[in-house]
Amino acid sequence: MINLELPKKLRASANQAHQVAAQIFRPISRKYDLGEHEYPVELDTMAAMVDGLSDSGTQKISGASGGRSDDEAPSTDVLLNANGGNMSALLNALETSWGDVGLMLSIPYQGLGNAAIAAVATDEQLERFGKVWASMAITEPGFGSDSAAVTTTAVLDGDEWVLNGEKIFVTAGQRSTHIVVWASVDRSLGRAAIKSFVVPRDAPGLSVARLEHKLGIKASDTAVLLLQDCRIPKDNILGSPEVNVEKGFAGVMQTFDNTRPMVAAMAIGVTRAALEELRTILTDAGIEISYDTPPNNQHAAAAEFLRMEADYESAYLLALRAAWMADNKKPNSLEASMSKAKAGRTGTDVTLKSVELAGAVGYSQRLLLEKWGRDSKILDIFEGTQQIQQLIVARRVLGKTSAELK
Ligand SMILES: Cc1cc2nc3c(=O)[nH]c(=O)nc-3n(C[C@H](O)[C@H](O)[C@H](O)COP(=O)(O)OP(=O)(O)OC[C@H]3O[C@@H](n4cnc5c(N)ncnc54)[C@H](O)[C@@H]3O)c2cc1C
Repeated sequence: MINLELPKKLRASANQAHQVAAQIFRPISRKYDLGEHEYPVELDTMAAMVDGLSDSGTQKISGASGGRSDDEAPSTDVLLNANGGNMSALLNALETSWGDVGLMLSIPYQGLGNAAIAAVATDEQLERFGKVWASMAITEPGFGSDSAAVTTTAVLDGDEWVLNGEKIFVTAGQRSTHIVVWASVDRSLGRAAIKSFVVPRDAPGLSVARLEHKLGIKASDTAVLLLQDCRIPKDNILGSPEVNVEKGFAGVMQTFDNTRPMVAAMAIGVTRAALEELRTILTDAGIEISYDTPPNNQHAAAAEFLRMEADYESAYLLALRAAWMADNKKPNSLEASMSKAKAGRTGTDVTLKSVELAGAVGYSQRLLLEKWGRDSKILDIFEGTQQIQQLIVARRVLGKTSAELK
């Protein structure tokens, strides 16, 4: 029988993240929306907390090693039912994003690069990079969706890699302590030569060119990074340095299997925030939302609410499935993309519909609804847009290669 209840230990950790979201994030949410690029000093307290928790080996707020499932993966379990690093990181991302997704993206030690490290690092690297705050730099001026078009290069020079290129739109690109950079070790070998490298903030040749002004997630810094003869140690390459043309792109792409459900969780967190606010507004307006009466016999706003809540539930369950599969070492690329496509679309739909149904107050800054409407859009763009997720799902369902279905 399917049991959709979360295990007790996960409920406790999600509850802790929810407290952080309610008590630390919500009260400062508008402040850092208005003060774009101001450093959220309140998050320093969280950094200390995360540090303390990982030192004591108890819990993670949002999974500093988010995505690593080795700890709790079953070995010979017939039932294969591990809820490990991915599931815990996903629930914590969801709860903290309910508080404020821009601030969530600014939590020290919880960058998307951390999930990337966890996904492909060797045990030795995981030990070495276990306590870093890593952002993720794939996008370049020449491409976004087409991740195979990386032009940044990495050339081995003695005991060091020398990186050259420009990375744009790097979330937490200024504040993180490390950046996971995608670069080609040999451009003549195509996508198989793209590898990821961990670049420390103080690496010579790395600089921040500028920060972007944005529609939403203003609390999160989005940076343009320049790599000019940037030198990093030889063993900062993630995974094998060998170029396996047969295996192609699989190594670095594996990162997305872990990070996409995480971004889905962010969208689900913002969606839930909007639904809760909308429910209060509708209830205050005397509109009853009934689970006993068919939606078509209810107030139009209540019927809309029920439709959106159903979308929220399905996005939530799809994300849980993708994370559960990752924890149980089942290939989950299809499910990761499905969860992100559903959650990204639901996030933008629900937040903007909530602004609409709330009337003028929904559009005003008296509530956070309009902010969530702006914040949610990025969750349907980064780590692969809505269209790209649908393309991946179509390829997998139809059994087509990327060359056959573009
Ligand atoms: C605030 C913000 C934060 C970001 N953070 C990061 C980060 O931390 N690290 C990082 O590396 N990048 C980051 N990005 C970049 C982001 O991942 C890219 O913007 C995204 O992948 C889309 O790429 P693009 O902007 O070049 O759009 P394009 O790839 O040019 O796409 C433009 C439009 O065409 C559609 N499209 C493209 N190809 C196809 C196709 N084959 N079929 C159908 N439709 C298609 C896209 O869906 C999109 O709607 C961030 C972007 C923003 C705005």
